[in-house]
Amino acid sequence: MSMNEQMRQSEESILHTYNRFPVVLDHGDGCWLYDTEGKKYLDFAAGIAVNALGYHYPGYNEALKEQIGKLMHISNLYYNEPMSQAGKKLVKASGMSKAFFTNSGTEAIEGALKAARKYAFSKGENERNEIIAMNHSFHGRSMGALSVTGNAHYREPFEPLIGGVKFADFNDLESVKSLITDKTCAVITETIQGEGGIYPAEQGFLEGLRELCTEKDILLIFDEIQCGMGRTGDYFAWQSYGVKPDIMTCAKALGSGVPVGAFVLGEKAAAASLAPGDHGTTYGGNPFVCAAVSKVFDIFEEDHILEHVRELTPYLEEKLDGLVEKYDVIAVRRGKGFMQGLVVSGTPVGSIVSKALENGLLVISAGSDVLRLVPPLVITKEHIDQMIEILEKSLV
Ligand SMILES: *Cc1c(COP(=O)(O)O)cnc(C)c1O
Repeated sequence: MSMNEQMRQSEESILHTYNRFPVVLDHGDGCWLYDTEGKKYLDFAAGIAVNALGYHYPGYNEALKEQIGKLMHISNLYYNEPMSQAGKKLVKASGMSKAFFTNSGTEAIEGALKAARKYAFSKGENERNEIIAMNHSFHGRSMGALSVTGNAHYREPFEPLIGGVKFADFNDLESVKSLITDKTCAVITETIQGEGGIYPAEQGFLEGLRELCTEKDILLIFDEIQCGMGRTGDYFAWQSYGVKPDIMTCAKALGSGVPVGAFVLGEKAAAASLAPGDHGTTYGGNPFVCAAVSKVFDIFEEDHILEHVRELTPYLEEKLDGLVEKYDVIAVRRGKGFMQGLVVSGTPVGSIVSKALENGLLVISAGSDVLRLVPPLVITKEHIDQMIEILEKSLV
């Protein structure tokens, strides 16, 4: 069947909530993807920052196949070894206390918000239920996650959302301060804003938030769903800043391809928030996805994935800065590690993304004018050179 016919058939039955790129992807190999007609694409999108290990990374598929041969799902009513292994490794990597596995990033946000409200409730402060979130943030599409997403266009059609949410400006500590009241129970922010346009937090902003929250016993939630799991060269972006949250959410690269997320609580939040009966999930953290999480952590350690990101980041940044210098349409580079954005000016970012696709490179956009690069963490210098070459072809 031709790609066009496959696309037509898909639109017949799948609800049109995405304007998809006109390509039907068939299989992957390393950092390359192949469509059903055999054309290949260098992948600098990684399934939106999910496929940290690219495709068919040695040992990953095998670990999943082995788990399928044993057990995929048992519900959360019983213990399973992959979950305890995955939990142990996640808690160790983050230096936090307790993890709850979810099926997605959005559900991790839901859990984090519930944990924050329950923390205040546990202290007898039932009235303390307000949450401060950031403008231009993105935390997901469910009613709760949408409530803290700082994009009115996403929220408006679905109001009323959960109450008690106020929006401050990212990287503006005074604006957060001005919204804090006796009723504030949590502050939630991405450590590096992703969908909003690749805006890294400033050091002073995170430090200031930490100080404010500690002083007033407000829980600080960092959404690490996109920027976490090695993308900045540390397991979690907040570790690069040395500012630790009370609750962290992760997903995307956590399972590097299987649907899994988690919210992770520090000691304080773990000791006095969600208790038996407060929260649950049928699938969340089943043996299949947890075998993936566990294997991902093993691969990160054994194959020094974080070191690789740190080593290659200056090269990637130098090459991207070269584009900023050379082309008027590329105004600025922003980002950290393998989470980079190029601000496009004078031409729609979508047209560059489309040309790149035609030329065999997958990149995506972020915000209204940012070209986003979130490649697999296992790319090499050669992949970076190839990316630059194809991108240059797509700029003129
Ligand atoms: C993708 C994303 C989410 C939502 O995750 P899903 O797995 O799509 O539910 C939440 N927060 C951030 C920062 C994200 O990038």
